[in-house]
Amino acid sequence: MATNRTFTMIKPDAVESGHIGAILNDICAAGFKIVALKYTKLSAEKAGEFYAVHKERPFYGELVEFMSRGPIVAAILEKENAVEAFRTLIGATNPANAAEGTIRKKYAKSIGENAVHGSDSDENAAIEGAFHFAGTEIFG
Ligand code: ADP
Repeated sequence: MATNRTFTMIKPDAVESGHIGAILNDICAAGFKIVALKYTKLSAEKAGEFYAVHKERPFYGELVEFMSRGPIVAAILEKENAVEAFRTLIGATNPANAAEGTIRKKYAKSIGENAVHGSDSDENAAIEGAFHFAGTEIFG
């Protein structure tokens, strides 16, 4: 079976609002298997590194400040066609445009504080997973 992996973070806004349990439940109910899971906090330096691809964007400073202001939950998820399936589950970047029932529609506050991250390609899923987890922390 062509199973693959994606990487996610429950962002500080959703953690602050007490949505960790509900979001993990939505993820599991959608058929994703959690193969790695961590409750942690990004330093501003680490958040900047993670989002380095957005360095030239006007919201970069705001994004780094937001992502390092409180704890996050990081996870590697497994499901057939995981990257695309997870992007569908979380919905559009801007919750105002996210489909009904999606995680961002239910829990996100704004285009910046949008509750969850989801990798946009298999290549980035592997890079982002390795950014947060050692091989010994992944249970596939
Ligand atoms: P996605 O997370 O849906 O892949 P992007 O890769 O475009 O979206 O952006 C990365 C993150 O940067 C978003 O999830 C969001 O937290 C933040 N972001 C994107 N666009 C804006 C914006 N216009 N203003 C503030 N923050 C933004």
